Amino acid sequence: MKVYKFGGASVKNADGVRNLRKIIDDEQQLFIIVSAMGKTTNALERVFMAAQQHDAKAALAEIASIREQHAVIIEELWHKPHTIERVEELFADLEQFVTATVYDPAEAEAWYDRIVAYGELVSTTIISEYLNYAGLPNTWIDMRRAIRTEQRHKDAEVDIEASTPLLRAAVEEAPTTIFVGQGFIGGAPDGTTTTLGREGSDYSAAVVAHILDAESMAVWKDVDGVLNADPKIFPDAVQIAELNYLDTIELAYSGAQIIHPRTIKPLQNKNIPLYVRPFGDKRKPGTVIRGMSAKVDVPILILKRDQVLLTIRSRDLSFVLEEKFAKIFALLEQFRIKANLVHNSAVNLSLCVDRNWHIDEAVAALRKAGFDVMKTEEMELLTIRGYTDELWRKYARSPKVFIKQSTQTTVRIVRKKN
Ligand code: ASP
Ligand code: MG
Repeated sequence: MKVYKFGGASVKNADGVRNLRKIIDDEQQLFIIVSAMGKTTNALERVFMAAQQHDAKAALAEIASIREQHAVIIEELWHKPHTIERVEELFADLEQFVTATVYDPAEAEAWYDRIVAYGELVSTTIISEYLNYAGLPNTWIDMRRAIRTEQRHKDAEVDIEASTPLLRAAVEEAPTTIFVGQGFIGGAPDGTTTTLGREGSDYSAAVVAHILDAESMAVWKDVDGVLNADPKIFPDAVQIAELNYLDTIELAYSGAQIIHPRTIKPLQNKNIPLYVRPFGDKRKPGTVIRGMSAKVDVPILILKRDQVLLTIRSRDLSFVLEEKFAKIFALLEQFRIKANLVHNSAVNLSLCVDRNWHIDEAVAALRKAGFDVMKTEEMELLTIRGYTDELWRKYARSPKVFIKQSTQTTVRIVRKKN
């Protein structure tokens, strides 16, 4: 078995779906994981926000527009007026959910998951139907039943042990050898829908590869492979031919948008190679990620945006030492805030964290617990692995830099957003 993952950008229109079909043409044993088409997840987040504000009208208008975009893709794929009953049902369910259910703020994350999951449910339904129509019999797998996650919404981790018999049974029972399943979504022990965090489809694909003992996994993207920097930010980015698992985890953790940070572990445990390949050209080799690789000989630059710098000091000016650290981190964990960089002096602890919905609550809780907290918004975290003197001069010396931390090979810079 091989596992192929197609992201939203690669299936954003009918041409993309036809191209997917071309890519899988000669495969026999294949599990395809698909994201929501194009920017559907962002649009569904808007549906969620409208529902949260009890604005049913805005939510329905947004759903209507998502529905229309998918209707256009379907018509173009079938080259004639065509509707897919199952897709109609999914949109009807979604409308019903946002209009008939009373929003409970304590259930924000669960609601979010329930709503945004439709992106993947719809995209896989269309793709599975289209492949059948185009002569590639396949089985649509409901990943809400086949992937069991922990009981946590919006950013759930997969319970691989519990998922293994479920997914294997779904595959064994099926009459075909090609499967289409949703990335990004799963089911909690209580039966509710969960999601694995934005861009989580890579992680879904890795879990499937692990459970089915796949020979390889490939992520088909709109770039030639893994680059040493985001070309939109650093124009002279170049491609890297090979990476090892460990470096990839480091890069993903620092914010490189290669793949979701949780993707590597399930692959590494079974030594499954991961190929990052260009969707537009099947002949190009892309990048391979596996246990051993040639040394990367270019600096790698990773920019993580949407950061907040918290500077925390104990009000009695006692040193912010171990036992205080534990208290602070436990509090942050409670509000689901991740520290990306930690820097401490005798009395201060500075943390560069992801901005999230609960940041102000967390700051209030820290203050209540006896800390003075200074919050600086609009920050970025730049990581440079294998930095050169030139890069140091260019990035570490700017007056926008608040904190820099360096080792022999890597420098990490917290700076004000440009
Ligand atoms: N559709 C989801 C997102 O846009 C998951 C994914 O693309 O991997 O975040
Ligand atoms: Mg996506």
